[in-house]
Amino acid sequence: MGKYKLSKFFNLQACTKCGNCLINCPVLNYDINKAKLEIKKLINLEDSEVLYHCHSCFSCNLFCEYSCKPYNLILYNLFIRYKKYGLPPTAKLVLPNETFNLWNGLKSILPQYEKNIIKEWSKPLKNNILLVGCFTQIFPYLTDSSLLESLNPRGTEKFWCNAGHIYQLGLFNIVDKIGEILLNKYKSCGIKKIITFMEAEYSMIKNIFPIFGHHIDIELETLSHYLLERIRNGDIKLRNRLRGKITIHDNCFSKSLGEDSWNINRDLVKELGLEIYEMKHNKKSSLCCGFGAACYSFSVLDIIKQAQCRLIEAKSVNVQAIVVYCSACLFILSVAKELLQIKIPIFHVFELVQLAMGEKPIHNHSERAWDIISIFTIHLIYSIFSKRFKIKNNLIPENSELKLSFNFNILKIINKLLKIKLLRHFYVCSLKDY
Ligand code: SF4
Ligand code: SF4
Repeated sequence: MGKYKLSKFFNLQACTKCGNCLINCPVLNYDINKAKLEIKKLINLEDSEVLYHCHSCFSCNLFCEYSCKPYNLILYNLFIRYKKYGLPPTAKLVLPNETFNLWNGLKSILPQYEKNIIKEWSKPLKNNILLVGCFTQIFPYLTDSSLLESLNPRGTEKFWCNAGHIYQLGLFNIVDKIGEILLNKYKSCGIKKIITFMEAEYSMIKNIFPIFGHHIDIELETLSHYLLERIRNGDIKLRNRLRGKITIHDNCFSKSLGEDSWNINRDLVKELGLEIYEMKHNKKSSLCCGFGAACYSFSVLDIIKQAQCRLIEAKSVNVQAIVVYCSACLFILSVAKELLQIKIPIFHVFELVQLAMGEKPIHNHSERAWDIISIFTIHLIYSIFSKRFKIKNNLIPENSELKLSFNFNILKIINKLLKIKLLRHFYVCSLKDY
């Protein structure tokens, strides 16, 4: 595979082929013989069943006592498959250099107020920035807070979320190119510090880009860490301490950061006054929100089924809300909650900080979920008539005004229709058989 050698990603020498990584996987449910068989297939780059069921959740890296990085081995196999067969058309939804993607779909239906927020994020980079991330861009209102004003929020979908989701798909050549482009950009703009809204962006700069030979010497901090420190040193005053029981959903990238990430987010929630009840699958064995469940198929149904497991598990611990600290998890769980009509509130941890300091978060997740459902609906129809494809070389196209094509006009109509409660009800009922 040219410059991408397996040994760069996976420690073959240290691997005993014991299968422990796959036995402990919270998704696969393999016995020892099956686990050993499948790990051998992955090492031999044969067509392993793992590639059809893995949720790309990072956990197995933490289950290997020899630190061989079996998750990277799975990604390597996904990379080989991509080189051979490309991606299914639904993947275009999450590719910022495609015309009909999630972001352009949303731009065609977002209120002007939210378009203006995104416009602010496109301004030139400064010494210190808050990198908001392409999945936070699904909820621009999330960043509408006095707490973030001085942090210079920047970074539209053109920053590809620092290639976090692209890495989870095993698209190593694209991660490599994006890493090179972005880190050069950060260097040439003289960036000294990045606070990341999403942990995926943090982990990509700190842990993943260096595997591809891309390094940058800057200060990095997650937003949760920044908020926790400011609450503890009194810079953020909590006027309205919260009460109640919540559960926390740990995102896939948190597992590349480990205890630090899990503890910071739990400490933050406790500082606000809330009690945490853990789900059965938490921290290192946390289940994916559904995003990674589609890594082999890009099936919306696979995504929703996995999100259903997560929401049901959250409900089973009898809490008042599920708290996430990743905008992609907020996106997937919010859509699933609407489609499955599961009644549990979902909050981003940042919204809870806003509430505790006396701000009123906009919290429009339910309506935004239906905006996304409109986009999914049109895109699925469009995908029926499209073929598998490889990602275009032009990763960061020049800024251009969105041209309202046929797809976007149809999208606007579907979006308006799905604002009608009765039609939403029919939509939800039509999915029950699946
Ligand atoms: S990667 Fe680690 S846990 Fe998995 S088979 Fe190899 S040695 Fe065992
Ligand atoms: S990445 Fe997650 S789902 Fe995939 S094999 Fe590893 S632990 Fe299992």
